[in-house]
Amino acid sequence: MPDSTHETGQAGLRPQTQLVRGGLTRSPFDETCEALFLTSGYVYPSAEEAEAAFKGDLSRYQYSRYANPTVTMFEERLRLLEGAEHCQSTATGMAAVFAALLCQLRAGDRVVASRALFGSCHFIVAELLPRYGIETLFVDGTDLDAWAAALSKPTACVFLETPSNPTLEIIDLAAVSEMAHAAGARVVVDNVFATPMLQRPLHFGADVVVYSTTKHIDGQGRTLGGAVLCSSAFFKDHLQGFVRHTGPSMSPFNAWLLLKGLETLDLRVERHCRNAQALAEFLEGRSGVSRVLYPGLDSHPQADLARRQMSGSGSTIVTLEVEGGKARAFRLLNALKVIDIANNLGDSKSLATHPATTTHQRLGAEERARVGITDGMVRISVGLEDVEDIKDDLARALEA
Ligand SMILES: *Cc1c(COP(=O)(O)O)cnc(C)c1O
Repeated sequence: MPDSTHETGQAGLRPQTQLVRGGLTRSPFDETCEALFLTSGYVYPSAEEAEAAFKGDLSRYQYSRYANPTVTMFEERLRLLEGAEHCQSTATGMAAVFAALLCQLRAGDRVVASRALFGSCHFIVAELLPRYGIETLFVDGTDLDAWAAALSKPTACVFLETPSNPTLEIIDLAAVSEMAHAAGARVVVDNVFATPMLQRPLHFGADVVVYSTTKHIDGQGRTLGGAVLCSSAFFKDHLQGFVRHTGPSMSPFNAWLLLKGLETLDLRVERHCRNAQALAEFLEGRSGVSRVLYPGLDSHPQADLARRQMSGSGSTIVTLEVEGGKARAFRLLNALKVIDIANNLGDSKSLATHPATTTHQRLGAEERARVGITDGMVRISVGLEDVEDIKDDLARALEA
């Protein structure tokens, strides 16, 4: 952008190098660490330059609702990691989901979505879109015949989440993308649970990827944020105008923290997954535990698909079901001494939640049953502690 800064990034570097160096633009002070530009606006050397910028003849920073140097560094780093043509950051993950869907839809369009969606995403598809004359249909994401039937009519957009929250169901991205494209639909994937380290939906045919950077990309529970990754054409034709004029912009301060989060993302996700795999193996078959859902276990119904589509053990989250329903699940949660009760995830601290009464309460009992969320289910976002302490904590709590 402006002449007074210089880009230090290079294309073709490997992912871990991009996480540390990608997108870095140094100011004339040659700082080591990415600079935090806390500014809402920018000054112009002349009225002519301001005019040229507003006419679009000159590309430069104009206003931080459009772009900000710290935010641009974050977007560029995430873009290089994902291998996308464009990255647009947002203030929250939900702002990213909302923008990715609404920017491309209009009254009369049809949307097909997987049923097991994050609560607020479910609200957008089930309640908000129909209010604007958009027809929406939910399918069981793991059932390819259901996708085929739903996509036998012209469709504008497919929206799905894999692995799903909290049951960790895996959707076949390549198969669904192929069917969606045949129906004329763009595929938008909520890749929050997988993180960019474990799954690259664009590689399997998806058109748009959305993140809540609040989760693993921050990874230390400090900020809210989101991002949409897409083609340059999708950005130019749909997303750019929508975000410029509706204003879900990420704050430069949050972008700066998230830049530092990306530097350690690969290291953290690797350790989260190693701890999660060990915990899943420890819990499976244990007395009082009726089921453990984890893509890295052979007992997972889509373990093969997980291996094909994802790297590593496939999840930083382990979901277990205890015998004895809600009462037993609450007793377990209340007896934990290391793991905290919290509905966030992807944090360095291990966090446990009871989806039926918190994150998925709004769905109602019938819809919860349909997506397989039982009253005995406890979701554990496995942190970076020594896994032996996490195991001890759960073993003790299971006996409570
Ligand atoms: C948290 C989350 C979101 C929403 O992100 P926010 O940053 O909380 O707005 C969307 N999808 C999934 C799968 C999530 O876990």
